[in-house]
Amino acid sequence: MTGAITVDIATPVASLVTLTERGMEDAPREIAAITEYHAHVYYDPSDEGSRARAGTVRAWVEARFPVRMGRWHDVPVGPHPGAMYQIAFAPEIFPSLAPFLMLNRMGLTVLLHPETGRPRDDHTRHAAWLGEALPLKTEILPETDSRNR
Ligand code: ZN
Repeated sequence: MTGAITVDIATPVASLVTLTERGMEDAPREIAAITEYHAHVYYDPSDEGSRARAGTVRAWVEARFPVRMGRWHDVPVGPHPGAMYQIAFAPEIFPSLAPFLMLNRMGLTVLLHPETGRPRDDHTRHAAWLGEALPLKTEILPETDSRNR
C-alpha cells in the first residue's frame, strides 16, 4: 500500500477564473475602508447541543471583548442560510477576537466579514469562514451600501 496523495486542482482554478471575470483592481483597497467587522455564529436551532455551544461561545465573547452582540435569529434573516447571531466589532478588536473564535468556536461555523460599504463583496470575496462555508443568498445583497456611516 502506498499513501497516495490526491490533489484537487479544480477549486483553485475555478476561483481564479471567477476573479479574472470580476476584473482585477488597479490598486489595492486600503484597510481603512473597513469600518467594522461582523462575526456570524451559526447554530442548529433544533439541536439543543448546538444551541448550548452557541450560548457558551456568546458568553465567552461577551465576557472578554467590547462588542455589539446581536440577538438570536432562529429563523434565517437576510443573506444568512441558517440560524445565527451576529457579533459586531471594531477593527482594533480583530487581532484578538478572530483567533479567539478560531480556538473556541466549539465546532460551529462562523462567517467573518468586513464592512466596507460593499455588502455583496464584503460577504463573498472579502469574507473568511471558520468551519464549513455555507451558501449565502448573495443575490439579495446590494453592490454598494447607500446608508450613511
Ligand atoms: Zn454581517
